[in-house]
Amino acid sequence: MESQTFKVILLGDSSVGKSSIVINFCEDTFSTSIESTIGAAYILKTINNGNKEIKLQIWDTAGQERYNSLTLLYFRSSQGAIVVYDITDKTTFERAKLWIREIREKEEQKTTIALVGNKTDLKERLVSTERGSKYAKEEDLLFFETSAKTGEGISKIFLDLIKEMPKNN
Ligand code: GDP
Repeated sequence: MESQTFKVILLGDSSVGKSSIVINFCEDTFSTSIESTIGAAYILKTINNGNKEIKLQIWDTAGQERYNSLTLLYFRSSQGAIVVYDITDKTTFERAKLWIREIREKEEQKTTIALVGNKTDLKERLVSTERGSKYAKEEDLLFFETSAKTGEGISKIFLDLIKEMPKNN
């Protein structure tokens, strides 16, 4: 079977739900691999897409202090980026925009970016769907709203990325 590997990086403020999104998507099927050369861990998820086997290396850049020195390396080698904010916290939306700007400045080939507004199960929303989707449209990003708590919208992020990433590579 034909096999294709994509690297996807997760970015966003701490506590927006990056790890929860990955855990929800991978659930009991994931295996963690360690890339010893740069000492960072990724999760490998294999998806059968018709007659093709898609391998997703998902890099969760936990802890800002840790990924500063690695940021450039991650950006350069990723085909996809998932930039997460918390819909109940406006600051995290502004930070997401900064991350997206940084990706666009540093990328060597076009990165497929998914902008994700997480925690839709919470009632205290402060960033509207319209605001998120308008920004995504302007910047040519995929846009999703999710709850890593209920699982709503999570798998769609990854399935849409799998559809889009090959177009840029
Ligand atoms: P990270 O620092 O971005 O990786 O965030 P985590 O995945 O560690 O999540 C931070 C906190 O937010 C944890 O207490 C999670 O249980 C919680 N959390 C994550 N996603 C959601 C969500 O969609 N809804 C709610 N209510 N809580 C969430």
